[in-house]
Parts: sequence; C-alpha cells; structure tokens
Amino acid sequence: MSSDQSPKGTAPRRTTARAASVTTPAPAATVAPASSGLAGSSPWAYAPAPESREIVTIRQRYGLFIDGKERAPSGGEVTITYNPATEEPLAEIAKGTPADADRAIEAADRAYRKVWSKLHPRERAKYLYRISRILQERSREFAVTETMDSGKPIRESRDVDVPLAAAHFWYYAGWADKLEYAVPGRRPEAHGVVGQVIPWNFPLLMLAWKIAPALAAGNTVVLKPASTTPLTALLFADVCRQAELPDGVVNIVTGPGSTGMSIVTDPRVAKVAFTGSTSVGVTIAKGIAGQGKGLTLELGGKAANIVFEDAALDQAVEGVVNGIFFNQGEVCCAGSRLLVQESIAEEFLARLRDRMSMLRIGDPMDKNTDIGAINSKAQMESIGELVASGVAEGAQIWQPACDLPTRGWFFRPTLFTNVAQSHRIAREEIFGPVLATITFRTVSEAIEKANNTAYGLSAGIWTEKGSRILQVASALKAGVVWANTFNRFDPTAPFGGYKESGYGREGGMQGLHAYLRSS
Ligand code: NDP
Repeated sequence: MSSDQSPKGTAPRRTTARAASVTTPAPAATVAPASSGLAGSSPWAYAPAPESREIVTIRQRYGLFIDGKERAPSGGEVTITYNPATEEPLAEIAKGTPADADRAIEAADRAYRKVWSKLHPRERAKYLYRISRILQERSREFAVTETMDSGKPIRESRDVDVPLAAAHFWYYAGWADKLEYAVPGRRPEAHGVVGQVIPWNFPLLMLAWKIAPALAAGNTVVLKPASTTPLTALLFADVCRQAELPDGVVNIVTGPGSTGMSIVTDPRVAKVAFTGSTSVGVTIAKGIAGQGKGLTLELGGKAANIVFEDAALDQAVEGVVNGIFFNQGEVCCAGSRLLVQESIAEEFLARLRDRMSMLRIGDPMDKNTDIGAINSKAQMESIGELVASGVAEGAQIWQPACDLPTRGWFFRPTLFTNVAQSHRIAREEIFGPVLATITFRTVSEAIEKANNTAYGLSAGIWTEKGSRILQVASALKAGVVWANTFNRFDPTAPFGGYKESGYGREGGMQGLHAYLRSS
C-alpha cells in the first residue's frame, strides 16, 4: 500500500469554505465573501453535471505488462491506487521489482532484435496510426479512468489529455517512414531498448509523449508509470494488445522509484527519458553517468507570466488563470509567478480576484468543475507547507470563498501579493493552485525578474506590441515562451527546458532526434 494515501469513504460531500480551511494555513488568509460571483449559495449556482463512470470497468487487481502478457510481480506484492477526489481505493497494482524490470528489458531487447527493427518503417507507422485510432475510439473510457485515478477535471482529461495523446501517436506515425528527413545527410538508427519513467500529473499524455516518438524511431520500450496514477498506462497495455502490437515492443512495469532506477541503469537500455522532479532527475543522471546512454530530462519549472500595461487585461486575466489553475497547478510549465506592471497592478489584481471567485472547485467528474483534486495526500501536504512559508515570510494571501468537498484532497485557489523574490513561494516549484505576484516597472526589470530562477522551462508574455513580444521572448531563458496565450500544446511543437528544468526536447521533429542515433 502506498504510504501517502489512505482509504476512506466514497462520494465527496461538500462543506463551506471556512470549514475547509484544513487545506491552507488559517493565519492571515483573506477569504472573499461567499456571495461573490456564481459561487456558494448564489441562485445562479451550477447544477451538478456528473460524467458517468459506467463506461469504465476497473478491475480489482492489475499485473505487469511484459512481453505482451499480463504477469504477476515476482515479489507477489501489490500497492493500492486511490481516487484522490474521494480517497476510495480503486485497484491493487503489481509492485514490480528489479527482477521484473529485468524480464521486461529482456522482452524489449528480444522484440527489438527479432521483430521491430526488422519491420519496414511503413509497417511501424501502421501500428502507431492504429493505436491513435483506438485511443480516439476509447477516449471516454480513458478520460474517465484518468480523472478517477489522478483527480484532474473530466473537462481537461476529455478535451486536453486524451485528444493530445492520440494526436501524438498520429503525428509520429507520419514520421516513421521519413526519418532520413529528420536528420538530413545522416543515416538514422534506433537506439534499441529505451527506458522511460513518467510522473502523475499527465499520466496518459506523458506516456504518449514518450512512447510515440520512441516507436516511430524504431525503438522498443520499458515504461514505469507513477505509483499514484498507473491505471491509464495499464489501459494502454490493453490498447497495445488490441492493436496487435508485436509482443515485447511496449512493456509497462508498475512499481516504486527503485524499480524505475533498475530500468534506467540496466546496460541493455540505450536511452533514458524521464519527466518528474529535479531531484530524481539528478539521481538518474548520476546513476547512468559514464554509461554512454542518451538522456532527456523534463523537470520542474517556475514560469513567469508577464503582464505589461498595454495588454488586453481581461484576456490576460483569463490566460493567467489558465496558466496556474489548469490541472490544479500540478503542471511543470505552470505560470506560477505573475509579473504584473506596477501601473496596472491594482486593477489587474482586482479583475483577477473577481475571476478567481468564479472558479468551481470540487468533484473532478463534474463537467462544470474547473479545479479538481490534488493528486495525493503527500502533494497536498507539500503545497500546504509552501503556502504556510509564504504567510510566514510576510506575503499577503488571498483565497476566494468556495465550497470544498469534505473528503478527498482539495486545495483552494490561492493568490499571493507582496511577494519578494527571495520568498520560497517565488523560488520553489509549488505544483499546486498557488500564484505568487511580483510587480515591475520597466521591460528590463521584468526580464531580469523573470529570469531570476533556477528553472527555465516556460514563460508567458501579455502585450499588444509585437516588437515587445519579440524583444522579451528572445531575452527570456525559457524553453517555451507563449505570447498572449498560455499552456498551448501541440505534437508538432518541441517542449523542454534549460537549467534545472532539464535538457532535451519532446514533441516535434526535435523530439524524434532524442530517439535516434545518426551516423
Ligand atoms: P518524482 O520525481 O519522485 O516522480 C516522478 C516519477 O519518477 C515517478 O514515476 C516516480 O515513481 C519515479 N521515481 C521516483 N524516484 C525515482 C528514482 N530514484 N529513480 C527512478 N524513478 C524514480 O516526483 P514526485 O511524485 O515525488 O513529486 C514531487 C515534486 O516533483 C512535485 O511536487 C513537483 O514539484 C515535481 N514534479 C514535477 C513534474 C514535472 O512534470 N516536471 C511531475 C511530477 C512531479 P513513484 O511514483 O513510484 O515514486
């Protein structure tokens, strides 16, 4: 049983904002009146619009997916995956061991040498197209499973995670027989077996980001999902069977971080891809140092969302809200630092508070929900600890009034003002619905403050001036810079960071390079 979650009741019940202050440090928090906006007891409150769970059959127990078959873990142990919105146990998950990782790598190695590397690239492409089509056909099943296992709103899993995952397989299917165009003048070759470790914030999407380019480039895969969100990866195993993908081309090994380490350090694994925390990224980089493996690391972020005085303010408010509250802020590229020009700060923050008062927090299965459940109790505690540090260090906290369910892990959207750059909430990745506001006067001050971070994953610019967009974007040390929008993803666009946000790119042609050796 994973230590950070515990089973309790079932359906979420609701309580008032003040009774739910368990999610945040009570001292100094300013909570808006409950009658504001459409929240609370307003006659304009939304009626419940729950998505049905009936399309999904969650089994009592899941094994490992090795060599095309479901297998029991060699140690015989299981962990439990929970619904973070209700704290109810969903299923028992095989606790894969290093011995299981070894079996999976052996299967992937055999499949690479005997089958996958011998297939004509056009035939590989057909499998990827087939997987994409099946993901589309089974999209509701995937969306409901993802929401139940991760806590993210069904609106996001339905409209973002699942369609984007299918789009990645579709996009990379197109590359499979055109690899020489990705590395002109050189001969593209697959690495062989790749080891991939993914996090819990976008379980299916991160799987697609990793498996689609790997297979298109001709590699075979051993993937370890996060322990709190294994279900869509295991459902994906079923898609592989349905697509009649040759045995061993994709292997899914559930289990703890140590099993992930066994996968990535195995000498038969020629390339490693990891998404997750900077600390584990560093451990992996150290663990495989000197082995000559390819490595891409997609780690954390502390993105600045910069609003200039000439920006379309309502549009910018919408973008700032999307930037930090999408997926409860559990997003590596979340716009968690709001940099707003001093001349408009007061007005902008007033509009932002109004908009935040309209956010609907609660049952992720409700189609009207904007902010769902935090993925785990451990993550809740981590957010709470950082928010408490913000209060203790002297920043001003504000939260809208909103009802929170009494069960499950929910955190009220939080806005900090009076934030100094030295505060922990301005420096550390919170990975929750918490926005830290810093003001600036000049363009150069905005750039300096935006770059004043150990991370370098993403940033946002809000201005009506095209020349300012170009000037600021080229001065920002961030892998992705959005202008007058935020959190836009597309399979054709590369994504990745600088500094402690990692290295290497995923997505687009650049994402393919990571899975190719070229001679
Ligand atoms: P981790 O980095 O620990 O987990 C990510 C993945 O790595 C999981 O599959 C995890 O397995 C696995 N893992 C853990 N330890 C090892 C190891 N030594 N070797 C190989 N694989 C390992 O993230 P957390 O879940 O602990 O989240 C902590 C913080 O990390 C968050 O608060 C957030 O700030 C950041 N984070 C960033 C993400 C991003 O997208 N950049 C995604 C997730 C978290 P298991 O689940 O079994 O522990």
